[in-house]
Amino acid sequence: MDWNIILEILPDLLPWLLLLFVICLIAFLFYLWGKQTGVSQSREQTDKKVRLMESQRDKFQSELTAVNLKLEQYINFLVRIPDAVKNLNSALSFDDLVTSTIRLTKEMIDTNAVEIYLKDPKTDNLKLVAAFGTNRGQSIEVKPGEDVVGNAANLQILVSRDSLKLNKNTAADKFIEIAAPIAFRGSLIGVIGIGKIKRRMENEKRLLSMIADLFAVAYRNLESLDSVKEEAITDALTGLFNRRHFFEEAHSELRKAVGYNSTLSVFIFDIDNFKHYNDTNGHPQGDILLKELALLVKNNSRSTNIVARYGGEEFIVLLKDNDKNGALTYAENIRKMLENHPFQHREKQPLGFVSISGGVATYPADGDTIEKLIKNADSALYTAKESGRNRVIAYQS
Ligand code: GH3
Ligand code: MG
Ligand code: MG
Repeated sequence: MDWNIILEILPDLLPWLLLLFVICLIAFLFYLWGKQTGVSQSREQTDKKVRLMESQRDKFQSELTAVNLKLEQYINFLVRIPDAVKNLNSALSFDDLVTSTIRLTKEMIDTNAVEIYLKDPKTDNLKLVAAFGTNRGQSIEVKPGEDVVGNAANLQILVSRDSLKLNKNTAADKFIEIAAPIAFRGSLIGVIGIGKIKRRMENEKRLLSMIADLFAVAYRNLESLDSVKEEAITDALTGLFNRRHFFEEAHSELRKAVGYNSTLSVFIFDIDNFKHYNDTNGHPQGDILLKELALLVKNNSRSTNIVARYGGEEFIVLLKDNDKNGALTYAENIRKMLENHPFQHREKQPLGFVSISGGVATYPADGDTIEKLIKNADSALYTAKESGRNRVIAYQS
């Protein structure tokens, strides 16, 4: 290389080399600055992403907590179902059932009020039968279609005051916010309502419907149990108590009379010439007479008297707290009332009307057991028949 030539042109090149150096330096600085800005930009983006994810995580967390709470409530309900069903279905009385249902509702739903209404079959109105938290008596009635309770009954679906946009203050069911119909196979039994919900879980409506369904089944069971019980103590033809129930009641009443040192009377009576009535007018007509006569005796007796069909055309009445005079007065009134009653075909009877003969026996004078009292009353009845019928006689020892 010719160094002399280079040294000769160097002074001319120097400014250009300097310019090139400056340009390179600027480019390098630009490069460094760009790199720096890129890093901070991507950090900001990352921070933003993290914050977003954190807020989403918090949202999920609170949703999860809510779901868990709901789940807990459902599980709480589910584990209680067998117990609740057993409890409601083992209720032996209507009061028991209502109390258990109110307790169950309070445990399941965080509400300040629970009310149970039952449909009155005569008026179709919904009558308040039990309340918790509203301090209300049982004189409240809601008409079908009226207010929350009446709408639940009419529509036979769960309804809320909000959805119906009802005025609260004037309503008969003013404490009720949500009401569910209590129905069995489409036939309405009543309505169960709840008040304000303190801590809303959003499944209250479903829980209330489930409780209403449980109540409906238990209520129907109780009704059939009642009718079975009723049948067991009732005489099918006359509707009076049957002989077995009479003895149960009589034994228990005699124990009381012994304990309280009080009196107790038995009045037994038999229709006179009933065979004649049957023979003349036919057996079905005889049945009609038995029914009508039984109803008359029942309606002319105090509710404390136990009126029963003793057999065929024989009846028996247990008179609590009645001495011989009291029982005889009652027996004579019944006899007279029947003698004067315009039974069909009465004129064809031997005496020209339907009559009875009866006997009265009283504890303690005429016996200290029900069996002895009946035996002695029956013997007085026999005397009445012997003496010409249509009379009542007290047993004379
Ligand atoms: P007395 O005045 O002595 O009592 O005469 P009676 O004819 O009433 O007495 P008796 O015991 O001879 O007849 C009772 C009749 O009651 C006979 C029986 O057929 C009839 N009887 C019993 N149970 C029923 C019933 O459920 N329906 C009808 N229609 N008749 C009945
Ligand atoms: Mg007889
Ligand atoms: Mg007779």
